[in-house]
Amino acid sequence: MMEQTDLKQTAEAIIAWYAQHKRDLPWRQGKDPYRIWIAEIMLQQTRIEAVIPYYKRFLNELPDVTSLAEVPEDRLLKLWEGLGYYSRVRNLKKAAQAIQEQYGGAMPQTAAELKKLPGIGDYTAGSIASIAFGQPEPAVDGNVMRVLMRLQASDRDIMEQKNRKETAAALKEVYPEGEDASLLTEGLMELGERICIPNGQPLCGSCPAVEYCMAHAQGKEQDYPVRSAKKERRVEEKTVLLLENEGCWALQKRPPEGLLAGLWGFPMEDGTLSETHIVQALRKAGLQPQKAESCGKAKHIFTHIEWRMQGWKVPCGKRIDNYVWVSPEEIEKVYSIPAAFRAFRKIVKE
Ligand code: SF4
Repeated sequence: MMEQTDLKQTAEAIIAWYAQHKRDLPWRQGKDPYRIWIAEIMLQQTRIEAVIPYYKRFLNELPDVTSLAEVPEDRLLKLWEGLGYYSRVRNLKKAAQAIQEQYGGAMPQTAAELKKLPGIGDYTAGSIASIAFGQPEPAVDGNVMRVLMRLQASDRDIMEQKNRKETAAALKEVYPEGEDASLLTEGLMELGERICIPNGQPLCGSCPAVEYCMAHAQGKEQDYPVRSAKKERRVEEKTVLLLENEGCWALQKRPPEGLLAGLWGFPMEDGTLSETHIVQALRKAGLQPQKAESCGKAKHIFTHIEWRMQGWKVPCGKRIDNYVWVSPEEIEKVYSIPAAFRAFRKIVKE
């Protein structure tokens, strides 16, 4: 590890730089912990530019802890539609309810208290505590790890939780308080997003920490960070059924456990079913299918699983109660359909 004094000087350089280069993002205006929290959760796995319209819409409708704690689940999921990883938004609501019940509606101010809330881990707790409350708490995610490992030319595996925790602990020792805590957290994030970028050559010429960077001194910026190989994804074949009756389409709530738990989707079966098999099965279920017409394939990649889906459009003579039957307009306005079904949703819309 780098000597602590170096890390301290590096931190000071980043603070001074960020104070000059602050970016005007909607969640960086003011210190409202609620707004910072929502942004941090949305920004996990999603790019800044993509998050902005979702963020504005969400905050417009749910501007505070109380409105989030009380919003009906279906409306909440609709507001989150397109961001994916729906467990994150469910945890947001659970945490808002806990803040109401345990803290009288005011967000707790320490990282330790914040971490007790559903969906708030070390990184999010550090972000909220330092940015909103000026606490000396680092927020170390993959981006910040990359910057720190390059600065130190460290070959620690950034995928290992233990290394992340130790790096955060070393950083905490030199973390400032007050406004500088906020500047350092945001500055490190900004450095990782715009200068010390993940793919391709980092922009060391614009980096405020270049004189302290060991990877740069060695000309080995791209040798870091070191990360262990990801596990291979499991491929699953699926058959998606677009069942139509008098201009309405069948939707089904997915099971409460597993991928996309509890969300609305088109009926789906495991495996690649043939046309004959589909028509027979639907006939048996009482839907009076006229025919099944192949309507294209789609792929969706989750963290560990890949769905390869074959879609079938099936005009049906009858509805059955296993599904809700909705118009394309209702699908657009009311039902939250996960991105995995985007290609099929488009077909229905057309
Ligand atoms: S000098 Fe280059 S490699 Fe080092 S932290 Fe800055 S951008 Fe990253």
